[in-house]
Amino acid sequence: MRDVVGVRALDGAFAGDLIGPADGPYETARQVWNGMVDRRPALIARCADEEDVVAALRFARERDLAVAVRGGGHNVAGSAVCDDGVVIDLSAQKHIDVDPDRRIARAQPGVLLGELDRATQTFGLAVPTGNVSMTGVAGLTLGGGLGWIARKHGPACDNLLSAEVVTADGDRVTAGAGEHADLLWGLRGGGGNFGVVTSFEYRLHPVGPQVIAGGVVHAFSDAPEVFRFFADFVATAPDELSVAASTFRASPALPVSPEMHGELVTVLAVCYAGDLAEGERVLEPLRSFGRPLADLVAPMPYTALQSGSDAAYPNGQRNYWKSHYVDEITDGAIATLEEHARRMPSPLSSFYFQHLGGAIGRAGADTAAFGHRDAVFDFNILTVWREPAADAENVAWARDLSAAMQPYSTGVYVNNLGTEGADRVRDAYAPATYERLLALKDAYDPDNVFRMNQNLAPRPI
Ligand SMILES: Cc1cc2nc3c(=O)[nH]c(=O)nc-3n(C[C@H](O)[C@H](O)[C@H](O)COP(=O)(O)OP(=O)(O)OC[C@H]3O[C@@H](n4cnc5c(N)ncnc54)[C@H](O)[C@@H]3O)c2cc1C
Repeated sequence: MRDVVGVRALDGAFAGDLIGPADGPYETARQVWNGMVDRRPALIARCADEEDVVAALRFARERDLAVAVRGGGHNVAGSAVCDDGVVIDLSAQKHIDVDPDRRIARAQPGVLLGELDRATQTFGLAVPTGNVSMTGVAGLTLGGGLGWIARKHGPACDNLLSAEVVTADGDRVTAGAGEHADLLWGLRGGGGNFGVVTSFEYRLHPVGPQVIAGGVVHAFSDAPEVFRFFADFVATAPDELSVAASTFRASPALPVSPEMHGELVTVLAVCYAGDLAEGERVLEPLRSFGRPLADLVAPMPYTALQSGSDAAYPNGQRNYWKSHYVDEITDGAIATLEEHARRMPSPLSSFYFQHLGGAIGRAGADTAAFGHRDAVFDFNILTVWREPAADAENVAWARDLSAAMQPYSTGVYVNNLGTEGADRVRDAYAPATYERLLALKDAYDPDNVFRMNQNLAPRPI
């Protein structure tokens, strides 16, 4: 590569790939999941190991270059890449170790959810992660990690037992119960603010291998009854059951009658991860409620559930998300959703409520920085389209709906945030947690080297 930023200084000190603007792989390597993000780093340092991370970080700091850290590259804000700086790209680090006897798994930071699921399900075990298998374990865990089995086993971050971290000074430390316990607390929900995690050690749980999953499809014209039923039903759900209510326009891929294609539907999507006969019993009221257009609920492998939504979230589409935690789905909220859903400009967009609670709410604030554990629903507006010319219309629709839902908001999940500013990062945590995070940032990254993230800016002295 051309010596654009003095990269020759890394010759012999770097085992992975150094990719600059003049190199063939650059155009692909700078892309992230969200097609709205178009940044041009000076250098992409695709690290082979921990030594590479230290070398790339030192290189960037000595030259006062911005630093971005890339895991799975799925963050909607595109914080895995920066303009003009150095991307510490961990995507090639894919090693996974599973110890089924001790029920522990270690994952390198380039591992994707589906890769971790495949390795752990071989033993009938799983780490609770998220719902789309192409997402990176790194960013997901560091922000929290909410998925189908979080109500039973907690978010991913609660199952992070320890982490190997390269700090802003290039030191290598282990954050665990015995050492740097404060750092482990921060890594469990405080995002990428404190260092580069080069290894994640997780607690494993018996899961599946079969679960009951799928969805019951309702016409959106029945939305008021469906949302009220959903809110009542989940209020007494056992921890084994997770339900989400998702609204979108039916594509021909959805097995409903052709006249419903292009029409709004609300799907009650479920996962029951427990005794299958008991799951059938628990799900019976949900499956017999109302006037379903289709019932797609069935036993299936946990890995099939985990990858079943992948096709709906391909790389490179334009994405703009808005999100709130919501405690109650009131009649006012339902009326707001009805009004805005009908004006949804793109057939690729959706909004959903994911029911939380269970083990998510039971851990104390001392366990993890992860915020708003008592939230009842994660409400997310996923605005998705393909044409840049449609940016303004789609962004405006999402902003309008988000503003209209603001009266019901109790906070926000940090991993759902786009580039929304410091106040929204603050909204992701209770005040005492936020203060503790700022103190931790002061201790581990006082110069704010790690600022391409949902940033906890260090306090002025
Ligand atoms: C299609 C899709 C589905 C999703 N589904 C869910 C879901 O079901 N549940 C859920 O909880 N979330 C979900 N998310 C949100 C997801 O958790 C976040 O986008 C998360 O940041 C993705 O992690 P990543 O490693 O892929 O991201 P990246 O974009 O690579 O990284 C995001 C940020 O994390 C930090 N980071 C990444 N790796 C490291 C590291 N090794 N050390 C230090 N910092 C690091 C950096 O600050 C980086 O900017 C989903 C996102 C998408 C796009």
